[in-house]
Amino acid sequence: MPDTAIARQAELRRTFAIISHPDAGKTTITEKLLLFGNAIQLAGSVKSKRAERHATSDWMKMEQERGISVTTSVMQFPYNGRIVNLLDTPGHEDFSEDTYRTLTAVDSALMVIDGAKGVEDRTIKLMDVCRLRTTPILTFINKMDRDIRDPIEVMDEVETVLNIQCAPMTWPIGMGRHFKGVYHLYNDVIHLYTQGQGSRIPDDKRIEGLDNPEVDEVLGADQAEELRMEVELVRGASHEFDLEAYRRGELTPVYFGTAMGNFGVREMLDGFVEYAPAPQPRETDTRTVSADDARFTGFVFKIQANMDPKHRDRVAFLRVCSGKYDKNMKMRHVRIGKDVKIADALTFMASDRAQVEEAWPGDIIGLHNHGTIQIGDTFTLGEDMRFTGIPHFAPELFKRVQLKDPLKMKALQKGLQQLSEEGATQVFMPLDNNDLIVGAVGSLQFDVVAHRLKEEYKVDCVYQAINVQTARWIYCDDAKMLDEFKRKASANLALDGGGYLTYIAPTRVNLQMTQERWPDIRFAATREH
Ligand code: GDP
Repeated sequence: MPDTAIARQAELRRTFAIISHPDAGKTTITEKLLLFGNAIQLAGSVKSKRAERHATSDWMKMEQERGISVTTSVMQFPYNGRIVNLLDTPGHEDFSEDTYRTLTAVDSALMVIDGAKGVEDRTIKLMDVCRLRTTPILTFINKMDRDIRDPIEVMDEVETVLNIQCAPMTWPIGMGRHFKGVYHLYNDVIHLYTQGQGSRIPDDKRIEGLDNPEVDEVLGADQAEELRMEVELVRGASHEFDLEAYRRGELTPVYFGTAMGNFGVREMLDGFVEYAPAPQPRETDTRTVSADDARFTGFVFKIQANMDPKHRDRVAFLRVCSGKYDKNMKMRHVRIGKDVKIADALTFMASDRAQVEEAWPGDIIGLHNHGTIQIGDTFTLGEDMRFTGIPHFAPELFKRVQLKDPLKMKALQKGLQQLSEEGATQVFMPLDNNDLIVGAVGSLQFDVVAHRLKEEYKVDCVYQAINVQTARWIYCDDAKMLDEFKRKASANLALDGGGYLTYIAPTRVNLQMTQERWPDIRFAATREH
């Protein structure tokens, strides 16, 4: 049932994440976006806040290492009459599942590229992830205040390496010390760059029309002529912007600028709120959910433990997919089949957590989690359905955890369980012995887990090598066969942190042989619910 009030609110929302290689300027551009959204007074505060915290406590030190902070996890700000939701992707060195799942919760992405470096490997990986759901991509080529590569060459690289057409929306006038501004190819306006306006919203000094004699006065006859020729060339040689092709993920509008100089960002943001898609329909196991549907629905894409050290809480991040969240509403936690009253959801307006009165499709709310919520969980008004496509991935690296103080077993189990809820690591408890096995996709995660166990749960532990190469989740509808499998294969079976049966394979050959022996049992490399 479409609802006009909900459709109107959904239409205003733009929910996105930034994809980029480390150092391309994601943090800087985030600050500038918040500045335009009036969410922070001073650019620089995203980083300096992190730095201050770093000094105040060890927990925050870890937080900084993880590159996650409360205020930067989800940021909401108004711009040009729209509501922008920016979801931070974690800054770990490892490419993590967390990033993947955050990208399942957005409707589009902003790709930030360092103009001097071009397309780098993390960007390639993230782009592959965006492709899985054909997420529309808008591009910002950053650091024009430096001597970057030829902009045409950078666009060529984006086209060939990332296999997406580029449609320049603005075109840079010079670069490095000779960077003068950008020309908007569709509005026929030159925006002039002034240095040193990074920490405030720069005045928009503009010249209307490329053929305006003012252009010659400001740039000088030579640079003006060069610009006119270059623009003609670029118009002839590049793709024209096509909204539908952008929405289909086949073409990316490209903007140039300098995040540090807070320039070109406004033009990009103007284009973003105009062209980026509003909340899109989402698939469930029973039907497609349209954002304007009157019935509230949402799914959890991320869980973060101990966000606030004073409260020791765990927060589940829920993306509203349809309907409206009202304070004190009751919602059905579908997986456990229970109705829960949510009085104290968090929102992420401005730079602080505050209690939310209402939320609309595209918005993210934070639910306090006391261990009952898992990544991928669906919430509805009572309807029995689940959003699909929010997987856990089978880890590729495994270690056995050993306690230094055996009396801390309970705390260790609790810590591993809670950290595995965040989804970056998994914990496995074998059916036949008391081992605790940690599995991760990237090796950095082991250090993160050990450090956090110590900081947050006061548990000291060490890792030991273990003869496990891969894991598969076990599914079988035939209860009798499953029982028999459990008996015969128990030496290789474990429960994961969510209580799901898992086959722990010492080698790939062993896994293959077991699969051949049990053709009616499904060995899944991802866990969906
Ligand atoms: P992140 O790792 O992608 O979050 O990148 P940061 O935003 O932390 O930026 C990495 C480095 O590049 C920092 O030293 C920034 O000051 C610098 N930087 C970011 N944007 C620009 C820019 O437009 N011009 C120049 N010259 N440096 C920039």
